[in-house]
Amino acid sequence: MKPARGMNPGDADHLVAALVSGQAPNSDEVITVWYAESAVGEREITVDQTNRSVIVGDRAVVKWLLHTDTAGHPAPARLQALVDAGFTAMPRPWGLLHQRDSQTGALKLSAIVTEYLPGTQDGWEWAVADVRAHVRGEESGALNAPIELGVLTAQMHVALSRTGISDATEAQAQSWYAAAGQDLAEAISLVDGDEGARLRPLESRIQQCLHPISECVGTPLIDVHGDLHVGQILRTNAPYAYHVTDFDGNPLQTAVERMQQQPAARDVAGMLASLDHVGRVVIHRTPDVDAAKVVSWIVMAQEIFLDNYRDELNRADAGHLLDERLLGPFQVQQECREFVYSVKHLPHWRYVPDAALPALLDRLETPA
Ligand code: ADP
Ligand code: MG
Repeated sequence: MKPARGMNPGDADHLVAALVSGQAPNSDEVITVWYAESAVGEREITVDQTNRSVIVGDRAVVKWLLHTDTAGHPAPARLQALVDAGFTAMPRPWGLLHQRDSQTGALKLSAIVTEYLPGTQDGWEWAVADVRAHVRGEESGALNAPIELGVLTAQMHVALSRTGISDATEAQAQSWYAAAGQDLAEAISLVDGDEGARLRPLESRIQQCLHPISECVGTPLIDVHGDLHVGQILRTNAPYAYHVTDFDGNPLQTAVERMQQQPAARDVAGMLASLDHVGRVVIHRTPDVDAAKVVSWIVMAQEIFLDNYRDELNRADAGHLLDERLLGPFQVQQECREFVYSVKHLPHWRYVPDAALPALLDRLETPA
């Protein structure tokens, strides 16, 4: 098999040069250019990642996609929509590289080039540090970040919705409901040990909570981020600015699934779940932490995020994009996915859904 594109030294430098010149690096390749400037000198990003990202000249990041195929990819259309709408809370997109399949002629996305933001951290670093400081009574961004995240998420959805809004069909509602049931079944069958023993008795409560998904026919659908959580939010050094990255969609889904429109609630639930997860990480990793304080931060942060999300949607006259009925069910489904993900890819992560899911069910079952 041919090695994946982007594995050779110099490939990222050449791609940036190609964007500047407007000429694709090879005859079987096609480039899209939104912006480009000269930059040379490659340096690998070494954090935990699914793809291979290379920093070029401290100006650009070339993300070589290691698992794409000709079925398509969600990022190109989403980045285009965000660029067109003037959305700026993301690393500026520079361009794309597609490769043409020699047999079928179909295009396959091989790289995404964006502006490099020096000195940023992702939310698994900055939010965890913020919350740790907050519960120790120190000054931190722990209560301001959820405001910014709410506004950013709403602005992103308003921008993405400009390319079109559709209504969920009965078939879509049923397929999402079935998928959520499958995530639950998979979690129940895969999670063993103490966590499994705690999860299994929750099954019928989880099923109850998932039920509204089956009734969401007609709910508005837009292009979403698809994998929104604090780890996708890069924050600069103070004064803090927040940037959303990684429009690849949910890594557990097929390309075709990732390209489909979804309820805005999918992303909102993803972010709500991850705020909870930040709290669980802080509790787990901080000696002598006051867990009750962290739990009250979780509840507060989620409320602040959601209030600001709603307000910003309403400011854009787009309040109808959020179907509130789906927030709880999608968060519950997300916890099931976290269990499955932990079993398959990240064993030590299990403690997170193990702590988050029962607390979530309790919150959802308590009348407002
Ligand atoms: P993957 O899909 O492989 O997870 P991401 O696009 O989420 O790749 O990027 C992985 C990591 O690379 C991020 O968490 C962040 O630390 C870093 N990173 C990505 N894009 C940028 C950027 N534009 N500027 C600075 N760092 C970035
Ligand atoms: Mg990522």
